[in-house]
Amino acid sequence: MFPRLQSYQLFIKLSRDSEVQIGKLGLFRFPRGGYIYTGSAKAHMEKRIERHLSKHKKPRWHIDYLLEVKDARITQVARSEISECKLNKKTSGETLANGFGSSDCLNKCGSHLKFTGDT
Ligand SMILES: [Zn+2]
Repeated sequence: MFPRLQSYQLFIKLSRDSEVQIGKLGLFRFPRGGYIYTGSAKAHMEKRIERHLSKHKKPRWHIDYLLEVKDARITQVARSEISECKLNKKTSGETLANGFGSSDCLNKCGSHLKFTGDT
């Protein structure tokens, strides 16, 4: 049996300091650098990733607002058998936007987006 994929991570590079309105969550300042977003999609993982990679869409999730920024791009996608929150907790980085991508998170992660510094 193949292990089941449960979650994915988007490695994002923001090439310029940006102020971004993240839907109803608020306006945040994101310094240039690397970010890791952890999300889950059990059944439609590839479709979801494909959606993240496309620039033209109606924003729906918090991450959509960040990826809409001209200077933001996904540099790498990783898939994992570890659950979204566990994976997120194992990922080191700084929380800049509390509540980002974690409105349905039961594990009090704080944020499913981590800032990994100016790389
Ligand atoms: Zn979580």
